[in-house]
Amino acid sequence: MADLSPFEARGDLVDGRLALPERADGELVAVDPGDTRESLGAFPFAAESVERAVVASRLAWPAWRDADAGARAAALARFREALHAEQERLAAVIAREVGKPLWEARTEVSAMIAKIDITLTQGLELVADRAFELGAGQVGRWRASSRGVFGVLGPFNFPGHLMHGHVVPALATGNCVVVKPSEKTPATGQLYAELVQRAGFPAGVANVVQGDATVGARLAAHPSLDGVLFTGSYAAGRRILEATLDQPWKLVALEMGGKNGVLVCADADLDAAANAIAFGACVTSGQRCSATSRVFAERAVVDALVERLVKLLRGIAIGHSSDPGAFMGPVITRAARERHAQVLAWAAADGAESLVAGGPADGPRPGHYVRPSLHRLRATSRESRYQREEHFVPDAFVVAIDSADEGLAELDATDFGLAASVFTRSRATYERAARVLRVGCLNWNAPTVGASSKLPFGGVKRSGNDRAAGAASTLHTTFPQANLEIAEPGPAAKFPGFPSLA
Ligand code: NAD
Repeated sequence: MADLSPFEARGDLVDGRLALPERADGELVAVDPGDTRESLGAFPFAAESVERAVVASRLAWPAWRDADAGARAAALARFREALHAEQERLAAVIAREVGKPLWEARTEVSAMIAKIDITLTQGLELVADRAFELGAGQVGRWRASSRGVFGVLGPFNFPGHLMHGHVVPALATGNCVVVKPSEKTPATGQLYAELVQRAGFPAGVANVVQGDATVGARLAAHPSLDGVLFTGSYAAGRRILEATLDQPWKLVALEMGGKNGVLVCADADLDAAANAIAFGACVTSGQRCSATSRVFAERAVVDALVERLVKLLRGIAIGHSSDPGAFMGPVITRAARERHAQVLAWAAADGAESLVAGGPADGPRPGHYVRPSLHRLRATSRESRYQREEHFVPDAFVVAIDSADEGLAELDATDFGLAASVFTRSRATYERAARVLRVGCLNWNAPTVGASSKLPFGGVKRSGNDRAAGAASTLHTTFPQANLEIAEPGPAAKFPGFPSLA
């Protein structure tokens, strides 16, 4: 792993300059959740940075908006080079700060690098000018206009990729950004600020401000923003909506939680289904918005599926992020670890049978380690906190169902609408699932996790307000402008009662 010590706090990136706040409101301490004896550094923050960053962005916007698309692409290409040059260090910081294994952090950084080319090609194609002949020498043009200044708020679980996934499309379409990384991952936020600076965007175009939820709230509610691109919990997304009720000009794109389910039909490849469920429930220690937590299997195959799942979940290797043999690291905080114990109690209160008794566990070092848990339920309930809420720990339950249609109804009976998977050999069943399920991501014989950056990513219901990120982002970082164009005006049209200049 790249050497991370000492990790120097260099401050917020505002108007092209990295500087520590003159008067700090507080300090974010980066801790390794897989070894809580280790600190990666302390990062002072000041809410006042938000004001300076928004002002700098507003001043920078007209020139960035009007810049040649080639100049913007060149700046983003420099950003890609900066990320590429520091990819090992960035992966190491993410791994240590989130606790995820280094192999997984490396895939996150690869996605960040790839995001730039995908945006500059596919993302910009999506919002390229479209022209239509309207007759009589008139052309109709559908143009994507830059919105202005966006606030970007990132979560802890993909502390680089998810905020970056909003930043790149916003910049590529001529907007400026003020980014606030998660307060749980300030070292990643600091390194990201340094890499943005190294890319050499014009001063004020891309700003990075550290802070806690109060700083996030101040940014989201700032009246000079044209939009908020948020990824995080439903509770925080809801507060942002409330805070922006009187700001109808502001685009608020919310990417929130999930309660994602898998349907396993009687004709499914059971090995493939079990692998996908175990992977989806345990990768990133269950801390993915698209994590699998609900499984509905046809009665004929449920026992065979459970047998496979028990074997896989018992075999998951737990370890520190630096352990090359570990699949699963710790969860992010002590509170998250305690929540896993609470989740087990809620499952027991539902009468769930414990198939794999996970929960808080000793790890290789002092840290927030847990083991995956698996339950079997006899019946579902919409009232149950266990079955209804997102828990963000590696836990899933299995329920037997009598038909694929019953399974689809169960999959859909949730407040969330992010991801679902169906395991079946029947294309017709999968196509039916695509019609009836209210989810932003539906996968066929593939896990609920593991989205492609070449596709839209987002949810409906409590998972998001269908302003999808991923490849669809540029649709929301711009607004559609309609143009009626007459390059060579001819004789005026005649209308009854309208006078003539002739
Ligand atoms: P969180 O909601 O606690 O924090 C996310 C960000 O929002 C942080 O930067 C935080 O400081 C900021 N924030 C908190 N309160 C705010 C407020 N009132 N106003 C403005 N900003 C505020 O989320 P987290 O614990 O970091 O991440 C886990 C959550 O994120 C889970 O619910 C997970 O499902 C969700 N998530 C969703 C997606 C997705 O794409 N749908 C992806 C990853 C994570």
